[in-house]
Amino acid sequence: MAAAAALHGAGAAVTLLEARRELGGRAGSFEDAATGQLLDNCQHVLLGCCTNLLDLYRRLGVAEKVHFHHRIHFLDEGGHHYALFRVPGLPAPLHLAPALASFGVLSVAERWAISRAMAAMLRLGRAGRAALDNVPFGRWLRDHGQTERIIRRFYDPILVGALNEQTSRASAKYALQVFQDGLLSHRGSYALGLPACPLEELYANRPCPTVRLNTRVARLCFQSRRIVGVALRDGEILPANAVILAVNYPTVLKWIPEELRRADFRFHRLLELRGSPIVGAHLWFDRPVLRYSHAALLAGPLQWLFRKDRRGVVVHGVISAARDWLEVPEGVLIGQIKTQLAQLFPKGSATLLRHRIIIEKRATFSPLPGADVFRPLQTPPPEGIENLFLAGDYTKTDWPATMEGAVRSGYLAAEGLWRNLAGAAPAPRFLAPDLPLEFPARLLAQGRNYDTFTAQPH
Ligand SMILES: Cc1cc2nc3c(=O)[nH]c(=O)nc-3n(C[C@H](O)[C@H](O)[C@H](O)COP(=O)(O)OP(=O)(O)OC[C@H]3O[C@@H](n4cnc5c(N)ncnc54)[C@H](O)[C@@H]3O)c2cc1C
Repeated sequence: MAAAAALHGAGAAVTLLEARRELGGRAGSFEDAATGQLLDNCQHVLLGCCTNLLDLYRRLGVAEKVHFHHRIHFLDEGGHHYALFRVPGLPAPLHLAPALASFGVLSVAERWAISRAMAAMLRLGRAGRAALDNVPFGRWLRDHGQTERIIRRFYDPILVGALNEQTSRASAKYALQVFQDGLLSHRGSYALGLPACPLEELYANRPCPTVRLNTRVARLCFQSRRIVGVALRDGEILPANAVILAVNYPTVLKWIPEELRRADFRFHRLLELRGSPIVGAHLWFDRPVLRYSHAALLAGPLQWLFRKDRRGVVVHGVISAARDWLEVPEGVLIGQIKTQLAQLFPKGSATLLRHRIIIEKRATFSPLPGADVFRPLQTPPPEGIENLFLAGDYTKTDWPATMEGAVRSGYLAAEGLWRNLAGAAPAPRFLAPDLPLEFPARLLAQGRNYDTFTAQPH
């Protein structure tokens, strides 16, 4: 969608093909057969630092449908409430300092330890974090004096959902990115964005005029190292001067003949990426349960809870990096969720009337140490398929598997395609700049590389 919107906006003739009945992919909705209600595949969250996703929402005219929350709510196992919030007027990283100083989930010594780790994160800069791609974040945290209790009560609620991986297993590069870009660099970057409508409604305005839904691609038609067309499942063949393949990574390879795969190193290590599951729980109660728009939960099984109606009667719970839950019978999971919620909201316990559990076994790729080498560039290498571009959260964006990463990949693919088709004509810049590093944060970073991401090297 991002690639189509950018290229159409720049004047290219684009056809967007989608196998499902609606746009959105994993960040989409479906109709609940029992109620006819549109339910999201899973709650999707963005942050203020997702500048490209917000750029896409502006292109689609739906940016105002995302509501930003500047107070991030946390509930401990007994339902006690804590919050991270900014002090208006204070620049980053000072904006969150008063909230962190009074963050009662942790002891004073633990809060002090976190502040020291945050300063170390800022000092690393982007170059420093990139160099830690092969290091598990657990090791970095231990080296910086962060105890198991701090990890459980501070890092896990923030990181497990953001990365869809356990804090200690994830690559330090991506974990540090969440803190550097999401919390520490700009006063607006940590704001939590929640769509105020089903995800599907965000795509009601099409990214380009020619969008063909319920249209499944069957194969790509090649002539030597070029694609000349796209064959649909019903036999129709659409001629094409260039193609952006925006399907998920396990699907990509089935369309690329062996010989071309060998020549195009983007495909060599794709299947070495590991998937990580997410469990989403749609929960209907007989009375309001959640006062806040959202809450990070310090004890599981649910890690986050989101209010899906005004009253908090319908809520959505999420378990990321949910490997341990894949084989657990649904009844057992629901039993544990009920126990968890009864502990969180003990007064006048609500009755769970209905539930719908959705397990995405390969929700996203896992940002494990070293995973970057398996992620392909969007543009073809010199010996590769000349006019085939890749988009998708799994491609090399320097972002974990998120909507922001997916949009960045789409814009990068569109820039590459434009260069490929337009030859010497100046290529437009589709990628939106990051939020700037604010002054005190810049001072701590001591001028280390925080430039806007523009990398596209081979
Ligand atoms: C449960 C869950 C929760 C998540 N939560 C968040 C979150 O809170 N915040 C966040 O930023 N990200 C979240 N993500 C990740 C986010 O959804 C993805 O990173 C993003 O949607 C990936 O987009 P994509 O375009 O790369 O791939 P996809 O969304 O997978 O899109 C691929 C598209 O290709 C289509 N397709 C496949 N085969 C064919 C074919 N043969 N012909 C035509 N079309 C085809 C598919 O139908 C699909 O629409 C979550 C993901 C999941 C699964």
